[in-house]
Amino acid sequence: MKCKKCGKNAITYLKPYRIALCKDCYVDFYKNLVRRSINRFKILKRGERILASVSGGKDSSAMASILKELGYDVELLYIDLGIGEYSKVSEKAVRDLARDLDLDLNVVRLKDYGFTISDVEISKVCSACGISKRYIMNRFARENDFDVVATGHTAEDVVVFYIKNIASGSKVWAEKLLPRVEGFDKFVTKVKPLYEMSEKENLLYVICKEIPHTLEECPHAPNPDWKEIVYEIERRKPGFVKNFVRGIVKEEKPMKIMHCKICGEVSSGEVCAFCKLRMKYCRSKA
Ligand code: SF4
Ligand code: ZN
Repeated sequence: MKCKKCGKNAITYLKPYRIALCKDCYVDFYKNLVRRSINRFKILKRGERILASVSGGKDSSAMASILKELGYDVELLYIDLGIGEYSKVSEKAVRDLARDLDLDLNVVRLKDYGFTISDVEISKVCSACGISKRYIMNRFARENDFDVVATGHTAEDVVVFYIKNIASGSKVWAEKLLPRVEGFDKFVTKVKPLYEMSEKENLLYVICKEIPHTLEECPHAPNPDWKEIVYEIERRKPGFVKNFVRGIVKEEKPMKIMHCKICGEVSSGEVCAFCKLRMKYCRSKA
């Protein structure tokens, strides 16, 4: 398989785009995708001070690197949740990341608030962890004059969250679904610069650019069933995940109400679709 751009040996075939690319062309391709996505959804404004929350994983490491690459003003935040060996490995990856990207790193330790995630009952761990991360990110950003908090959520994260919500009958919580949520009161603006990017694309980017990251999973990581369902749909219908997230943000234009000039029924154009059908197929053309 040859790279469609330069003819060198390709390292990947991206099904949603039907394109094979070599390492260098993939890095450029990824950069353009993220830049276009940030512009399309107005995720970031030039001049904003960005606090990029990083976990050491591939997605947030890719985010930090691409934001720096695209010329944004960014610092890193690592939250030490106190999850045993996992937190140690993650912090090491984040320190390597900050060093390689030459970005300032801020570290906040949950234990400085008097507890860690290891103190929480197993059944409530992820909920407590989510609450703690959101609280610390927001407070740290506000108290240190950042304009936005950026997280490494991927397109799959958004789709899984959406489907899980619908399936459980709960109301969809907008903040988790949108690429940018403006701040209000004591809330700082939250953004997801990788909103349209898939995990595979992020992983490929960190590998191609040798960006420090860890593939170590949190020991509390939830059952991956939903994610696997989304991967399976994407495998059978390439492009599903990207179309889905684009659909979430697409603003529905209110339909202009008109009346068909032939029959008088409600129509989106001068002549309604039914009268067009009649004109085309009616055997006894009146
Ligand atoms: Fe926190 Fe681990 Fe649960 Fe993620 S999987 S929310 S890091 S406890
Ligand atoms: Zn190439």
